[in-house]
Amino acid sequence: MTGADKVVVVGAGLAGLRTVEELRARGFAGSVTLVGAERRAPYDRPPLSKKLMTGELDDTSLRADLESLRAEVLLGHTATGLRPGTLSTDAGDIGFDALVLSTGATPVRLPGPGPQHVLRTADDALALRALLSAGTTLCVVGAGWIGAELATAAVKRGCRVTVVEAARAPVAAAVGPEVGAWTAAWYAEAGVDLRLGEPVASIADRGVLLDNGEWLTAEVVVTAVGVRPAVDWLAGSGVELDNGVAVDGQLRTSMDGVYAAGDCASFWSARYRRRLRFEHWDVALHAPEVVAAGLLGDSAAYDPVPYFWSEQFGRMVQYVGWHGDADELIWRGNPGDGRKWAACWLQGGRLVAALTVSQPRDLLQARRLIEAGRTVDPARLADPAVAVRDSVG
Ligand SMILES: Cc1cc2nc3c(=O)[nH]c(=O)nc-3n(C[C@H](O)[C@H](O)[C@H](O)COP(=O)(O)OP(=O)(O)OC[C@H]3O[C@@H](n4cnc5c(N)ncnc54)[C@H](O)[C@@H]3O)c2cc1C
Repeated sequence: MTGADKVVVVGAGLAGLRTVEELRARGFAGSVTLVGAERRAPYDRPPLSKKLMTGELDDTSLRADLESLRAEVLLGHTATGLRPGTLSTDAGDIGFDALVLSTGATPVRLPGPGPQHVLRTADDALALRALLSAGTTLCVVGAGWIGAELATAAVKRGCRVTVVEAARAPVAAAVGPEVGAWTAAWYAEAGVDLRLGEPVASIADRGVLLDNGEWLTAEVVVTAVGVRPAVDWLAGSGVELDNGVAVDGQLRTSMDGVYAAGDCASFWSARYRRRLRFEHWDVALHAPEVVAAGLLGDSAAYDPVPYFWSEQFGRMVQYVGWHGDADELIWRGNPGDGRKWAACWLQGGRLVAALTVSQPRDLLQARRLIEAGRTVDPARLADPAVAVRDSVG
């Protein structure tokens, strides 16, 4: 789209802020309005379950100079509806030539009347941190990335932590049970009681009721079972929704002049020949470059090799690629020793994804091979004495 004079961005998280920054960096001189439901200026979420939760950090703000970006910023205001050319908000209607949807995602909650914490916003994190002190009994529902990171931080604060997970392995939904299972020992090593294969029926006052009828007492309960794209307000607007806002390879929605980026957008990937939606910081950081380019008339495409990281139980876990169509799994190093290893997925002999544990160099080299679509020799890839880049076969 060219000739936009007035751009409105909905959602003042990383993707929203980055969109404004990219527009200005590329010389956009028109007006920009940033509408965000939270009252806080844009901030970073990854530290909320890490350094902010342990108390090493209090403020994760992105330190954006909104004044020099010459953006009209409407914080504490929610978009409620959309029709071509007009965004409805609780502060009234706002007209636009182009609109960017970057409303992120909202945590899933479980049934039950009990006080149920979630961890998505800075306010969530600060309220939760204030409850976690030495001896506090904490039950985390969900052994995904955030559950694992929260358990790590809570142990550091001296809490007694139980993590209850419906699947047979931690992080199974993200990396599969075979790989996720090797992280289970990390919980025990940290003194966390990990209960696998135990779905929670409901959250009550001072505890959770399991599907099997068992009661677990806890002073604080946090539900960390995943998020849903924050797009309910778009129902009936004419913008196509499909696991979030459906966008094409250039991040354009089905409505003329409307784009989407970040956790709320499911984009068409030519690389993987399917629609994909990631909840990764890296996507919120880089997808706005493509949105801004598109708004200024350039036809750039967004088709990354996805990347994310997680810091848990003293380990840096990194994942690059996408293993959805992989047909072979190679272990590099011994996952049983717990400290440093990697899992590498191949498809037709090509490296397509890698998860590394405290092996940043392996991750970087794997990323290059994945981007280049290189085939590898499985035996060399499995040998930690051979550099990943030298496993090309
Ligand atoms: C605790 C935590 C730890 C994480 N750790 C990692 C990590 O280690 N590695 C990693 O890769 N990723 C991590 N992530 C994920 C990463 O932070 C997200 O992918 C990223 O924040 C997505 O950015 P976004 O701008 O798309 O959405 P968000 O950051 O969710 O921002 C969206 C904003 O839009 C607002 N909004 C929603 N609806 C409306 C509306 N109708 N009107 C106006 N405003 C609205 C929301 O209030 C929110 O402020 C973590 C996330 C969390 C919560």
